[in-house]
Amino acid sequence: MREIQIGGLVPFTTIDYPGKLAAVLFLVGCPLRCAYCSNPHLISPHDGEYDPDKVLEWLGSRVGKLEAVVFSGGEALMQGDALIDYMRRVRELGFAIGLHTNGFYPDTLARAADVVDWIGLDYKARRDKYGELVGQNIAHDHMIHSLDIWQSTGKDFEVRITCDPRFVTKMDLMEIANDLHARGVKKFAVQKYIPHFEDSEHNTTPDMRSQFFTDDNLRGCINALFDSVTWRE
Ligand code: SF4
Repeated sequence: MREIQIGGLVPFTTIDYPGKLAAVLFLVGCPLRCAYCSNPHLISPHDGEYDPDKVLEWLGSRVGKLEAVVFSGGEALMQGDALIDYMRRVRELGFAIGLHTNGFYPDTLARAADVVDWIGLDYKARRDKYGELVGQNIAHDHMIHSLDIWQSTGKDFEVRITCDPRFVTKMDLMEIANDLHARGVKKFAVQKYIPHFEDSEHNTTPDMRSQFFTDDNLRGCINALFDSVTWRE
């Protein structure tokens, strides 16, 4: 089994795992090609810059100072059993394990479920717009399958959407919120699209990007559907 490839590390964060002080490991490789990707250097599979054993050793020195380790990317689940094995080793140090995922690998998520404590799952757009945004038509179906699998575990999670106005309208957002409500999702996060410097095609204005956050009626309707909605501007 090839060891995991780590392409980035944030040593301390208060915002990536709800209620816990965490470190974030960014794993290399992603099957999607989102137009707005803010980590394009992590998309193509390549050797990671960090030695996994040294990272584990460093995490050992953070016991008692950090509470969780979040695996992000890229798409961490792309690294399959090597990831699951590494998560298990991190968990044995006493950390809670978080996972940011686009939901493209439901079977791997099912295998990882016993070592992961919380996930943040991306719901990127309406089903008919998924292919245009991420480059894979099937990705929506995989994401919904991952949602079903995670809900069956009974563990905590959040579904989040980045509102890129090229691919999401206010009506789409309402429709997606209703879909998630009907599926029994309790925690939803709405994130502002911030153009990345490599996303040269973005042609959006500040008003277009803010429209989801300045519409009080929309916010009220969405807030009413969930136990918790986080508006990340
Ligand atoms: S799923 Fe995430 S890492 Fe992959 S292309 Fe999309 S934004 Fe980038």
